Order: sequence, then C-alpha cells, then structure tokens
Amino acid sequence: MSVELRDCPFCHKPAVFVGVHDNEGNYKGVPGCEYESDPWSGLSYGLHHKGWGECVLCTCGEAEVMGGVLFDTAEQAARYWNAGGNLMKKKAMISQPMNGKTDKEILAVRNQAINTLTQMGYQFVNSLFEDDGKEEYWFTPDALKKRGIENIPLCYLARSLEVMAQCHAVYFCKGWDQARGCRLEHDAAVAYGMEVLYEDGAAREVQG
Ligand SMILES: [Zn+2]
Repeated sequence: MSVELRDCPFCHKPAVFVGVHDNEGNYKGVPGCEYESDPWSGLSYGLHHKGWGECVLCTCGEAEVMGGVLFDTAEQAARYWNAGGNLMKKKAMISQPMNGKTDKEILAVRNQAINTLTQMGYQFVNSLFEDDGKEEYWFTPDALKKRGIENIPLCYLARSLEVMAQCHAVYFCKGWDQARGCRLEHDAAVAYGMEVLYEDGAAREVQG
C-alpha cells in the first residue's frame, strides 16, 4: 500500500514516510513488508522523518516515531500528516512594475500587496535585493561587474526566478502586463504551475 505524503513544511523535502510497527511501537518495515501481512504482535503505523540532524521534525532513525503517535492504518497516518502540513502557510512573492515609478510609489504598492497577501494567509517572501543586506554583495553594480554580468536586468530576472522557486504563489501588481520583467515572471509562473494571484482581477481576463 503506497500512500502519498506531502513534503515536510520545514525542510521542504520528501523526507517523511510511514513505518509499520507492532503494538508496542517496534519498527517492522515499510507498508508492504512481510510483518504487515503476518502481524503476530499487533499492527500499528507511525510517521518518520529521514535525515537525523537536518530538520527539526527528524525522528531518530526508525526506532522513533513522530510524537510517539501510533495510528491504526497507514492511510490514517498519511491523512494526519497531510492535513497538518496544510496548516503551514503558503509562501508568495510579489511581481511589481518599477520602471518610471518613484521609490515612494513602489513602496506604497508593495506594502499594500504585502498586506493583502498576509490577509489571504500567505507568508511574504522578499524578492527585492535593495532592502536585504545579505544580497548587497551580489547585486551592487560593482559586484555584478566583478561576477562578469553583462546584462544586469537579466541577472535581476534570474534572481527573481530563484526566489519564485522558493514560493507557492506569485502576486502580480497592477500594470504587470506592461513591464518586460513582470511579463516574463508571469510566463514562468504559469508555465511552471505556480499559483497566480492578481492585484487587479481584470488582468486575468486580458491574459485569457
Ligand atoms: Zn523536515
């Protein structure tokens, strides 16, 4: 019996699996194992997380089940894990036209977008380099030159796509369809199955 388990919401890896246990919680194997077909000492199921030391949800090898909780069936264990994971917030970034706008205008739109996303239950992921000290080294004109970057807007787009890969959703601010970078981000978001959100619902119709 194979059961689908969602990726761990902490380490984002497919690290969790269901184990077959006896009634005392001793590990016997994975679903489909020999013990499962002849459970002479009782049958229960537990959730495990691989990679001891890599994630706060890791269980210590197969000896330990998550939270010490045993389930009657593998499906129950999977349902529990999958439903619990859904409580974790989805992550979203903002795609915002910037050309020809003042810093003040950009900031106002951006703060409004962050508010909206927060109200919708998303966790905002910052894709702007300017207000993230860590990125400064890589994205100042000097640093870009040293790295041999010839096309700076293209490098920004690459960075933006990298941030997009950390997200579940992208929120497109008004005017996105008039901005080269935003349009490419939109193409990428749609083509790669991201959840796409719009500040202006009408933009969706324009896109078809
Ligand atoms: Zn994890």
